Amino acid sequence: MSLTSPLSGIRSGLIIGNQEILTEYTLPVINPATEALVSESPLASKAHLEMAISAARQAQRTWQAESFDQRQQCLLQFAQEMENRQSELAELLCLEQGKPQHSAAHDEVGFAIGWLRDMSSQRLTTHTLDDTGDQKIELDYQPLGVVGAILPWNFPVALAIWKLGATLLTGNTLIMKPSPYTPLTGLLLGKLAQSVFPEGVVNVLTGDDSLGQWMVEHPHIHKISFTGSVATGKRVMAAAAQHLKPVTLELGGNDPAIVLPDADLDKVIPSLFWGAFGNSGQWCVGIKRLYVHARIYDEVLSRLVAFSKTVKMGDGQHPDTQLGPVQNRMQYRKLQSLLQDIHNKGYTIATGGVLPEKSPGYFVPVTLIDNPPEDSRIVREEPFGPILPVLRYQDYDEVITRANHSEFGLGASVWGEDLELANQLAQRLEAGTVWINEVYTHHPSAPFGGHKLSGFGVEHGQAGLMAYTQLRVRMQPRT
Ligand code: NAD
Repeated sequence: MSLTSPLSGIRSGLIIGNQEILTEYTLPVINPATEALVSESPLASKAHLEMAISAARQAQRTWQAESFDQRQQCLLQFAQEMENRQSELAELLCLEQGKPQHSAAHDEVGFAIGWLRDMSSQRLTTHTLDDTGDQKIELDYQPLGVVGAILPWNFPVALAIWKLGATLLTGNTLIMKPSPYTPLTGLLLGKLAQSVFPEGVVNVLTGDDSLGQWMVEHPHIHKISFTGSVATGKRVMAAAAQHLKPVTLELGGNDPAIVLPDADLDKVIPSLFWGAFGNSGQWCVGIKRLYVHARIYDEVLSRLVAFSKTVKMGDGQHPDTQLGPVQNRMQYRKLQSLLQDIHNKGYTIATGGVLPEKSPGYFVPVTLIDNPPEDSRIVREEPFGPILPVLRYQDYDEVITRANHSEFGLGASVWGEDLELANQLAQRLEAGTVWINEVYTHHPSAPFGGHKLSGFGVEHGQAGLMAYTQLRVRMQPRT
């Protein structure tokens, strides 16, 4: 099979007010599997941001005046446009992000299409708070205005759709900034939006980190929905304070998974493996610390090692590839430094651990570390790559203390047949979502967010939609 894509060399402009605008300066987009140039993406200037804000502000009043049902119809039409172009979106995603094409098409683009269809039926309705005394009191939800969505590079399509869906359904207009590493799918989404949404409702700007900062600092962007690292999240929150701008921050995680001694290993091993190594470990809610009861520890570790040998890592364009490279050189270097630390400290490597000498491509092999110390870097830090510490525990109080001993609190999971015990332990875990015998599933009705440094606020569900609105109370005498 030829690895040269017909999409290589495509050139796209910014999407502002349903126009495509080419820029003077561009940024290279690199295929992480080959380190070859995929394309150039536009580098938006402050003037482009002003244009987008003006278009989004103009569109917002009219968009707000549409009913939820009318806005839902547009979102459904947009989902259809995405489905019509699903294979193109997936091919582009594979090229710029590195994930296998099958997974790009189904686990990400297909997921995003289904999400939009499901979430768009949600509503925020006017509540009557009191209508019994001499006063009628009602509460409704007003859009905030223009929302700035700032995205990372691990799930560029799915995360874009999460933010786009909630922003638009609630009557706001959108300025979306994809990661500089994965701008192309965001721009294609912007192009598809042109035929569906009124002018100015969806704007897509690509650029470097300073574009994100300008968006946060701008007084006429009324909310920031940010997904990315803790360090950047803190900067976003500090800058947003200047205008008391609401923020939703979906940040990093170092999610523990606890395997109980009665876990059915035939069922659980594949789920644990993909829970940790899916998307090559670049998953905010991936399993990043695996705590296994001492009674089954050796068997779990050896089965995971055996399973890892059956999984093929390579260029996502090859049809048999199951895991791609990590997405960029910065992330590759971070993983390289973690591996160096593991070697320097003499921790036991059960499999992997050695970077391939052959380049190109940011390939990091599936690596399992056998019971490293609790205070090691690989246990304390979020690797965001295919390196997993497997940790032995003896009793439940001990494992809960260790699992909660983290500055993060995004997700956690418990695996075992005794569901009463699993639920008891789940209730003691400090995390925004705790899964039992599954991991990283999401639902449009379930609020998603992190405890501690993993975030601020939630997306999804009624609470998530409300975060894209402000409350307005109406009071009047009863007649
Ligand atoms: P990052 O923080 O480096 O970048 C995220 C986005 O912020 C990019 O678009 C970047 O250009 C922009 N940005 C950079 N500096 C900025 C600034 N000063 N002001 C405004 N915007 C700025 O994160 P990343 O490396 O792209 O993503 C990886 C991280 O994202 C991991 O920590 C991962 O756990 C986290 N993540 C979290 C979730 C979640 O839902 N909680 C989901 C996916 C990824």
